[in-house]
Amino acid sequence: MLHSHYTEELQIVKNAGNLRQLKHFKPTGATTVIYNRETYLMMSSNNYLGLTHHPEVIKAAQQAVEEYGTGSGGSRLMSGSHQLFLQLENQLADFKKTEKALVFNTGYMANLGILSALLTKDDFVFSDALNHASIIDGIRLSKAQLTIYKHKDMNDLERLLKQCQSNRTKLIVTDSVFSMDGDIAPLDELYALSRKYNALLMVDDAHATGVLGDGYGSAAHFNLHGKIDLQVGTLSKALASEGGFVATSSLLQEYLINKARSFIYSTALTPADIAAASTALRLVREDTSIIRRLQHNVSCLRTLLRDSDIQVETETPIFPIVTGDTNVAIHLADYLWDNKIIATPIRPPTVPENAARLRITVSAAHTEEDLQRLVKMLVSA
Ligand SMILES: *Cc1c(COP(=O)(O)O)cnc(C)c1O
Repeated sequence: MLHSHYTEELQIVKNAGNLRQLKHFKPTGATTVIYNRETYLMMSSNNYLGLTHHPEVIKAAQQAVEEYGTGSGGSRLMSGSHQLFLQLENQLADFKKTEKALVFNTGYMANLGILSALLTKDDFVFSDALNHASIIDGIRLSKAQLTIYKHKDMNDLERLLKQCQSNRTKLIVTDSVFSMDGDIAPLDELYALSRKYNALLMVDDAHATGVLGDGYGSAAHFNLHGKIDLQVGTLSKALASEGGFVATSSLLQEYLINKARSFIYSTALTPADIAAASTALRLVREDTSIIRRLQHNVSCLRTLLRDSDIQVETETPIFPIVTGDTNVAIHLADYLWDNKIIATPIRPPTVPENAARLRITVSAAHTEEDLQRLVKMLVSA
């Protein structure tokens, strides 16, 4: 009886075709996994540079375990802030051309902690309609007065900023690369508006770090290196590890160390996580052939899809094949699955109603044959 409410709610999800279930794979490389003894080609990972299986990244993680042990044993402010953190945070600040950087346990926790620490119920936040769930949740937690502007619509944003006649803190927040569409926010215009209306600008580079601006991220892509107030990123996608971070001023870094609850009240990441991210970051800067391979694969898939008359709009390694109908997306994903290709269907509430899609992502580790095989299957579906 106590549980029947949840059974009913789950049934509603099931009836809508939106029930999600976990599948447990064994990865055998950056682009292949084994499931039930069969090998599948992974076309849905955010491992954009394929660095999860780079020998130097693996070695760095192994060495860190041997030298520092497996767990960090405490939160950053208690006992868990091992030396590797300082090295990585200096590296991140240098990479993003900011005074400081601060590592959180995940990108999700970074957004939650930053927004809830910087904003109170008397402050104002302007958020793109398609921002990531972690931004939405951070805003909710802050209780700040929320205004949602139309996706990438700078006229709408300016109109709303103009209306806000308050001396309290104003903050504009946006994904730089939108996670389900792969399009890019107009950071140059957002920056100009933030200065004109005296608002902080916070950009979530989860899908841009290691991808845009020769890997340096969206600020570099728009020639705004070091100018954005808060650049959030993740260590979990192109940087092949686990964790989130923010690159910002010394002042805001110190503020967040003291006020961001998701930073303060959670055990620090493991030495292996930090060492792996640190080495991946070094590789992004030193071995430019890796990002060039990603760029090559993106344009290769774009050409293959165009030549096959498959409509996909994208400027990044994220290729959304929008079917609208959830069942169509699921059938397409099932067909690919039967042909040993993994491409996850994305359905509401992750995307709006009637905007279901297959979200395909390209990695530097894919081969041209992988991409050809994918397109051949999409054509025959
Ligand atoms: C993945 C993602 C996050 C969360 O990062 P994690 O490190 O996976 O928690 C935050 N924002 C955006 C836009 C993302 O795509």
